[in-house]
Amino acid sequence: MNMLFLDFINSQWYINHQLFKDPLYDQKWLDEFCTKWNLSEINILNTENMKELIKLRAFLSFVVNKLCKSKVISKSNINKLNQLLLSSKFHKEIAMEDGKYKLNNVPEKLNIEWDIYQIVLSFADALTQINIDRIKLCQNPDCGWVFYDESRGCTRKWCDNTCASLMKVRKFRESKKQHKYTNKKEKK
Ligand SMILES: [Zn+2]
Repeated sequence: MNMLFLDFINSQWYINHQLFKDPLYDQKWLDEFCTKWNLSEINILNTENMKELIKLRAFLSFVVNKLCKSKVISKSNINKLNQLLLSSKFHKEIAMEDGKYKLNNVPEKLNIEWDIYQIVLSFADALTQINIDRIKLCQNPDCGWVFYDESRGCTRKWCDNTCASLMKVRKFRESKKQHKYTNKKEKK
């Protein structure tokens, strides 16, 4: 399942994963991200907006990490999230899309406040509407990706195949090392 807040917080791991530049500061990446999620057009040269985005990503990442590990969010962080949910004004509007009626939120202004609201709302929706046990941290300790586990038994451990095979190889090497070690000990 695609979720805006996951796309957003995971953007910081591209820095470790593939690129050497924060994708939030890559105008092309940011344009595609904003188009994908119907956000306002954010210009990376707008330092105030960029500061807001970076701050939000750090905060949301912290909260989601805590949630993955302890399954709870502190009261002060809930208050902070609620504060962020106040950041945009909008109204509801009926629209027809693909032959179906839909109720859309229409922002008073398409700006960074709306973007922040949408990102936080995406997390708030997940928190209240899906099984939070399915929001997981990749178990590769060098990776920080958070993903939604859609597997039937909720058994997925890795963000993707790269991490899965990396960890399997590592486990195999460790067990081999362990094996050698015990063999040596036995010989003595
Ligand atoms: Zn991973």
